[in-house]
Amino acid sequence: MDLTGNWDLPDEYKMLRDTVRRFMDKEVRPAEEQTEHDSNALPPAVKEQLQKRAREIGVWCVQTPAQYGGAGLNLLGQCVVAEEAAKCRMGLYFPAAGAFGQDPPKVIFRGNQQQIDRYGVRTVQEGLTTCVAISEAGGGSDPARAIATRAERKGDRYIVNGSKMWISYIDQADWGVLYARTGAAGDRGGITAFVFDPKRKGITLKRIGLMRSHQPYEVFFENYEIPVEDRLGEEGQGFELAEEWLVHARVPYAAASLGVAQAALELAIAWARQRKTFGQLLSDRQSIQWMLVDSEMDLRSARLLTWQAAWKGDRGENIKTEAAIAKVYATEAAGRVVDRCMQVLGAMGMTHEVPMERWYRELRIRRVGEGPSEVQRMLVARELLSGRKE
Ligand SMILES: Cc1cc2nc3c(=O)[nH]c(=O)nc-3n(C[C@H](O)[C@H](O)[C@H](O)COP(=O)(O)OP(=O)(O)OC[C@H]3O[C@@H](n4cnc5c(N)ncnc54)[C@H](O)[C@@H]3O)c2cc1C
Repeated sequence: MDLTGNWDLPDEYKMLRDTVRRFMDKEVRPAEEQTEHDSNALPPAVKEQLQKRAREIGVWCVQTPAQYGGAGLNLLGQCVVAEEAAKCRMGLYFPAAGAFGQDPPKVIFRGNQQQIDRYGVRTVQEGLTTCVAISEAGGGSDPARAIATRAERKGDRYIVNGSKMWISYIDQADWGVLYARTGAAGDRGGITAFVFDPKRKGITLKRIGLMRSHQPYEVFFENYEIPVEDRLGEEGQGFELAEEWLVHARVPYAAASLGVAQAALELAIAWARQRKTFGQLLSDRQSIQWMLVDSEMDLRSARLLTWQAAWKGDRGENIKTEAAIAKVYATEAAGRVVDRCMQVLGAMGMTHEVPMERWYRELRIRRVGEGPSEVQRMLVARELLSGRKE
């Protein structure tokens, strides 16, 4: 009987981590240093060069299956890359400053072959940008009930009327996935997914200013037409097609939050080891050491929870609960860590000389995005109270 278990990354994943780490150190961060504190993109020529290198080292669209041109990493591999790719100033929302490409929404791979080739594969090949439009002003936590935007079939098209809210990347997107109601109001089975073109007539955008460095949009659809061939799956299958993808996406989302917090802790340790106050180094003060130690404990526990969710997901288990726990714990822990690290740096932590204040703002959003903390806790409570045993 083997009682040792497996509490560390397998060697292949350590190699993957080291490869990404080197790429971030040598290529991404030096390029990013040439941009403004709140920038969201590298100069196009620089980005193109980095993307070429990323493809060469096999870290391109890591969540996309290899058969469609992505790196095809499993969840654990995605977590390893997400954590390292977040370790740059814009890394929380633009991993590796965009060098690794943007994965198309996974639901496209539940479409038919023509949709997969035309949208999914082309996005990976050409490095296109996409968006996902689910949330509405009437509620984002419970979209299955809240979605009121309607898509009415008229012959070979659907006519869409209504509005979406908080939609990221739509201003740059080449295409997106829209969830609209084709069935009865309030019915989870009444939602259908469509591929849509944000540049086609019938759409207007209104920018929403908020604390993140790039802004989402309110999106208005007025008699906006979608050809029937752009419907994904059957009418009413919208959430059924996306369910597993939405759950799995929370795991690398958790890992990316840990990446910026780990980078913040490394900066805080370096600072504490060279900053003297009252004739002594900060690193010699117990109150400073405890902030660093509490941060290390937060990070280690969040990482284990995240890797465990990934590992179970990769074994084909239903990880609704594990993904919820990882998402809540990692996003909340990362917020605590960056907050403490800013304290260790004093005034310097608040400046644009270091990335912490940007990470602090952007991490705050992670407790609301991809299913807010309360809703994830609700999922865990359901499981706890159902009596299911491990
Ligand atoms: C920067 C940013 C980018 C985003 N990008 C996108 C995007 O690209 N596409 C997209 O579709 N959406 C996007 N969203 C929307 C995001 O998914 C929603 O904001 C989120 O799902 C929460 O919905 P809501 O804001 O309507 O809050 P509500 O649903 O109104 O909830 C408000 C608060 O109440 C809590 N709450 C809700 N229900 C319960 C309950 N039953 N018990 C206890 N507490 C509860 C919630 O946790 C939350 O804290 C984005 C949001 C932000 C902030």
